[in-house]
Amino acid sequence: MAKPHISFEYFPPKTAAGKEKLLNETTPALNALGPEFFSVTYGAGGTTRDTTLGIVSAIRDAGIDVAPHLSFGGDDENTVAELLETYKSRGINRLVGLRGDMPSGMGAAMQLVHANDLVRFIRERTGDHFHIAVAAYPEIHPESRSYASDIEFLKKKMDAGANSAITQYFYNVEAYFYYLDQCQAAGIDQPIYAGIMPITNYENLARFSRNCGAEIPRWICKRMESYGDDQESVRQFGLEVVTQLCQTLIDSGCPGIHFYTMNQVEPTRTIYNNLGL
Ligand code: FAD
Repeated sequence: MAKPHISFEYFPPKTAAGKEKLLNETTPALNALGPEFFSVTYGAGGTTRDTTLGIVSAIRDAGIDVAPHLSFGGDDENTVAELLETYKSRGINRLVGLRGDMPSGMGAAMQLVHANDLVRFIRERTGDHFHIAVAAYPEIHPESRSYASDIEFLKKKMDAGANSAITQYFYNVEAYFYYLDQCQAAGIDQPIYAGIMPITNYENLARFSRNCGAEIPRWICKRMESYGDDQESVRQFGLEVVTQLCQTLIDSGCPGIHFYTMNQVEPTRTIYNNLGL
């Protein structure tokens, strides 16, 4: 069986120490696992423009393939076009194109630009220079009108020129494979990689999951809750559940896995090693 595509996601650290650790410790350790690329998130209000650029430039300078996430947020076309040119000049040839969410505290006044319009804009301005990945939602985006409309809009992103998709994280493997079937039936041929969130802090994960529409199955919640403050048991059970999820995905032909690393080597590395890749 061919090795599935593997990639690792970061967010831009807020401190100089965090940046140094990410670049000098975390990245070499994860890069040793042979990923296709790293990606770095972007605050849709432009809040992380410089930090995202700084991290991706440093990773690229180390000779590693990296994809900045990008969205319009409240920026005008010139600002986004300039950022695209900067990325090109730094030798970057991948992007993750998103509508984005407003960072909390920035209000809802801004009209966010849908990802299909961003993809079209990138293609208009930079042709085929970038490999563009977009977001996909096996459990359906929380603002979607319906299951069918969400797939319709993913198709629009692909028709605008996206090359692949990365999913929101999920723990229901059936939701992912059903979604792949529905996408295929809708004429989407591009690979849809599974986004995987290792479980480190269960309470934070549960809170975040409520907002982004990713379901944590009841049996996982109950088991996690039963551990209370016993972090070691949470860690062990998290490793077991996520390793099993990834193994099932790989055994069932999933084209690749994108790990939301939360800027940590562990538990991503242990899960990766458990898979015997
Ligand atoms: P869209 O594809 O525009 O979809 C948003 C909603 O609008 C969906 O409900 C969709 O059904 C609907 N829709 C889509 N197109 C249209 C249209 N043309 N007309 C009407 N309705 C439409 N957020 C960040 O802020 N920064 C990041 O770096 C970041 N990285 C992410 C990486 C991945 C892999 C994933 C899965 C998500 C990421 N997010 C990030 C979160 C993402 O920005 C949010 O989920 C956001 O709410 C939707 O972004 P999108 O690109 O999927 O939007």
